[in-house]
Amino acid sequence: MDQILSAAMAQPPTQADGGGFIYLYFLKDIHGRWIVKIGESTWPPRRKKEWDRQCAPQRHIWFEYALWVPWRKKMEGLLHLWATLNGAWLGYVLCRYCGIHHREQFDLGNCGGMWTIIQTAMAFVFKMGWPSWWYGSL
Ligand SMILES: [Zn+2]
Repeated sequence: MDQILSAAMAQPPTQADGGGFIYLYFLKDIHGRWIVKIGESTWPPRRKKEWDRQCAPQRHIWFEYALWVPWRKKMEGLLHLWATLNGAWLGYVLCRYCGIHHREQFDLGNCGGMWTIIQTAMAFVFKMGWPSWWYGSL
């Protein structure tokens, strides 16, 4: 698992990548599981409005802070890979609110909970020597 993540970390960012934020929100699915969505955006307050409108009346519980990194897509990819390696990826989830298949949702219990995600993101930032800061509040 560490080797797979290290190999992904060594990949250069894509041309479409750049500075921006990683955001998180949580929701409860029909089975009562806590799900986390991990996404990226250049401006999370706008993305928050879009998601809340798109999937209304699904209740999204937003993590109050978004993490700025110099390569937001690479960071998002690393976090998705890490959560998937932990068996937390839920696949393509048909949303009963917006009718679209969401594909960036993870079983929160299988990836160690919210603080483990935060710790993992910070560990990635540290390993890659990236500057970063937290934006609040969403
Ligand atoms: Zn939806």
